[in-house]
Amino acid sequence: MSRNQQKDPEDLSQLRQRIEILESQLEEIRLQTHVLLDIARALNASLDTRVIATNIISAIVSLIGINQASVCLYKEKTQDFEVIGVFDSGTLSPQMPPHLDLSFLSQVLSQGVTYYRAPQGIQDWQWICCLPLQNAQHKIGTINIHALRQPEITSEQMEFLETVAGHASSALENALLYTIVERESITDGLTGVYNHRYFQKRLREHISLCQRRKRSVTFGLLILDVDNFKMFNDHYGHQFGDTVLQTIVRELYHNLREGDLIARYGGEEFVILVPEATEKIILLISEKIRYVVENTRIHYPQTNEDVSVTVSIGATLWHPQDSPTSLISRADQALYKAKRTGRNQSVIK
Ligand code: GH3
Ligand code: MG
Ligand code: MG
Repeated sequence: MSRNQQKDPEDLSQLRQRIEILESQLEEIRLQTHVLLDIARALNASLDTRVIATNIISAIVSLIGINQASVCLYKEKTQDFEVIGVFDSGTLSPQMPPHLDLSFLSQVLSQGVTYYRAPQGIQDWQWICCLPLQNAQHKIGTINIHALRQPEITSEQMEFLETVAGHASSALENALLYTIVERESITDGLTGVYNHRYFQKRLREHISLCQRRKRSVTFGLLILDVDNFKMFNDHYGHQFGDTVLQTIVRELYHNLREGDLIARYGGEEFVILVPEATEKIILLISEKIRYVVENTRIHYPQTNEDVSVTVSIGATLWHPQDSPTSLISRADQALYKAKRTGRNQSVIK
């Protein structure tokens, strides 16, 4: 046996120690990888931002001793934050971590760098951490953590938090994009009200709801069509016509109840589903809408004049034997009658 191959017992014990350390480091890495994989899976399992926020917070709480945490979404339009998840170990009514007001979160997000405030001196028992959630294109929000009388955060834990923030950013962005796509698929691009397809779906749902109810409740359907709108477009231009349609929708929103469903049925035609209606109610609503539209002035900048349009409305109530088609066709007949007999009026059938 050569001299090189022989190890004295001291060398061997050092080697064993070294192997043990390496093995325990490997075990730690394995554990962290598992936790991170679990987190990635949990975060991508939902498209609901609040569920994602809860998963983010659970992941952090499972590995680091903290007292309070929150996840905030950044609202680009209002340059504000919405709190979508809160954890507070000390109370059942969770609060935002202190020292982190919304203007501070803005600052962290615009700098795009993790903020960490270690305990300041021997009397200070707390640390605060604020992680920006972002990607190359978007500012998404922040994760905010507060720990009191907990061990100070280690560099490995900080690395872990930043990895969680990375996963959280993609999961939240996916969820936000999904919400936008979902909303776009059911709304009309010009006016923002529901589109024809979504209206048909809700109408079917509404009918089956009424059929299942024991109490005899019905609902109303109004079809509204702008009068002589072709001529209006020819005179004022299509673009101003679009503004008029947007104005009508704004007035509908102002003058209907929250539970009423407004949808664009086609070009310059809108439908309104009025839950729990009676003949008197749909007559009142139809006349109110007709009156409001007639009296709404819209400024036409080219000639500096205020103009208005009128609408005709056909309204009807759902009868237990009605299918969606028969119901719509009855409202349509009423609308046709309103048109034929002079326009700018409502007819109930
Ligand atoms: P009536 O009183 O019988 O309803 O007459 P009308 O001219 O309104 O009816 P018609 O069906 O002949 O024309 C509908 C017009 O609505 C034609 C089209 O230019 C206009 N229109 C449909 N969709 C839009 C839109 O999105 N924007 C604008 N500006 N006009 C639209
Ligand atoms: Mg028309
Ligand atoms: Mg029409």
